[in-house]
Amino acid sequence: MEKFKELGLEGDILKGIKDLGFETPSPVQEKVIPIILEDGNDLVALAQTGTGKTAAFGLPLLQKLDTSKNEIQMLVLSPTRELCLQIGRDLQNYAKYRTDIRVACVYGGSDIRGQIRELSRGVHVVVATPGRLCDLIKRRAIHIEGVRGVVLDEADEMLNMGFKEDLNFILDETPDTRNTYLFSATMPREVERISKNYLKNAKEVSAGKKNQGADTVTHEYYQVKAKDCYETLHRIIDCEPDMYAIIFVRTRMDARDIVRKLQKEGVECDALHGDLSQGQRDEVMMSFRAKRLKVLVATDVAARGLDVDSLTHVINFNLPEDVESYTHRSGRTGRAGRTGTSVAIINAKEKGKLSRIEKSIGKKFIYKEVPAGEAVCRAQLLHYADKIVTAESKATLEQYQGELFEKFETLTKEELIQKMISFEFGKLLKKYASAVDINLTEDDRRSGRGERDDRRGGRREEESNNEFTTFNVQVGREDGFSPRDLMAIINENSPRKGLEIGSIRVFDSNTKFEVDIRGVQGFLSCFGNVNYNGLPFSPVQIEERIGRDRDGDRGGRGGDRSGRGGDRGGRGYGGGGSGYGGGGRGRSSETGRSDGSSRGRFGEKKRSTGASDRPRGRR
Ligand code: AMP
Repeated sequence: MEKFKELGLEGDILKGIKDLGFETPSPVQEKVIPIILEDGNDLVALAQTGTGKTAAFGLPLLQKLDTSKNEIQMLVLSPTRELCLQIGRDLQNYAKYRTDIRVACVYGGSDIRGQIRELSRGVHVVVATPGRLCDLIKRRAIHIEGVRGVVLDEADEMLNMGFKEDLNFILDETPDTRNTYLFSATMPREVERISKNYLKNAKEVSAGKKNQGADTVTHEYYQVKAKDCYETLHRIIDCEPDMYAIIFVRTRMDARDIVRKLQKEGVECDALHGDLSQGQRDEVMMSFRAKRLKVLVATDVAARGLDVDSLTHVINFNLPEDVESYTHRSGRTGRAGRTGTSVAIINAKEKGKLSRIEKSIGKKFIYKEVPAGEAVCRAQLLHYADKIVTAESKATLEQYQGELFEKFETLTKEELIQKMISFEFGKLLKKYASAVDINLTEDDRRSGRGERDDRRGGRREEESNNEFTTFNVQVGREDGFSPRDLMAIINENSPRKGLEIGSIRVFDSNTKFEVDIRGVQGFLSCFGNVNYNGLPFSPVQIEERIGRDRDGDRGGRGGDRSGRGGDRGGRGYGGGGSGYGGGGRGRSSETGRSDGSSRGRFGEKKRSTGASDRPRGRR
């Protein structure tokens, strides 16, 4: 706390961050806080997510507010609704003991009227996505004449998402006397241009360098038969409940297949490959960054330029062709002083490749045995137990307590635990009870024997060369809907048994899923009277075909996947809800929109907020 004090923070703000457990400032906070506290400074900060940049600008700006004036004094612009809400929550937390400070979030994909109402009550800080803020300015529903500080958070992302003109418009609307604080993970020319045009004698700060982590990465390998590679991957994931990882695969087909299988096992994951439009890619990345996905399955080409901190693991499901790619892949974990693990799953004959990588990176791979079923179950159960023991008991149960206790009255503690575990983990325990040992014998590992077909790029038993088509249904997470429910409904109603379902994406209020194109005929007609918890389950086909090929990420696009323009963040599309710090939460639909505009075929169906409806779900 002393260090924060030395930087110039005081009183109630210090109290707020103490409650959050912040003890010492992060490097970016050390550099940025004094600059912002001093009036008259503009700032360009090269800082990635995870460096503590929100507090770096949030704490000094909150402290500088003059709440005797009932006007907006601080604007924070962020590329997506999620980030916008996150910043809003963070600011509220920092200002926990400053009850005089009012913060509002305004973003696309939510009812603008609720946001206007909230603004009219008077707020000091507005966190906004650029599109929605422009709308509000044009409607004269927001007054920004009194703004003294503007933060451009993730400026590079905002420009990537096509907000250049909106940013120019907003900055032109704010008073010339304002100070501007630009935060960006990268400094492309476009960001520099904004900085040149709108910032005056900006101080420059850089924090959180990339790829510091080479020495903090442990390299491990599992050596199994080619046919057991997926099972190995699955067990590794199940054995690491806190895993946050990228799995690298060679082809887009591998990515899709692995995601499909993992999703069916209940693992929150998605694929990133060359078949995705920019909007879909953004959508996946947003979910992954927000840690709503535990794993991202990606091809090298698609993962280029992808910047995510705090990965616990990088998993090489296929070893890359060249050593450089391996270095690049593994460098994505163990960043910013954290430790990380780079895992290679190799078949019996790939040891030579591994040795070449070892030589080149100057590090040894540690051999790991594929966890037995018992080890996986133990990891899951203990993790669950830890979560329960350390959970805050926030819920007020008083009114139900009597009845609840009565229900459990006859059970001993042991029985209660037993039942809870069976309820939560019955399926997992059953599955792993029959898990066989898939480790190779030492002899086989050394000699490369025990492998009939080691070409994992080659034909695998379960692989199909299917084409898929995408459907949408208007039930989603907020209705309690899950991939499991979808599978149950399809199994129950579809006349075609064994119909192959591809990836399933559950959003707030809708769900998209892929169906093997060969089973599509008659598919729609079998859901005539089906409902989920009283809501009609009426799939609508939204995309015709997704071709599968083996060309990695180059070419071979299936179906019409254009519609990039339709996926920017936060423009005024329909759904209820309001800003942060008041009013209810917006329910937004991926397909529903109320402004009537449309952009591109796929984009027509997609709301163009960057974020409101990304798949969330459990990790
Ligand atoms: P950000 O880069 O703003 O997204 O912050 C990354 C994470 O670091 C958030 O979970 C913050 O709550 C946390 N954080 C920020 N500053 C500190 C600090 N000084 N000490 C501990 N945690 C921090």
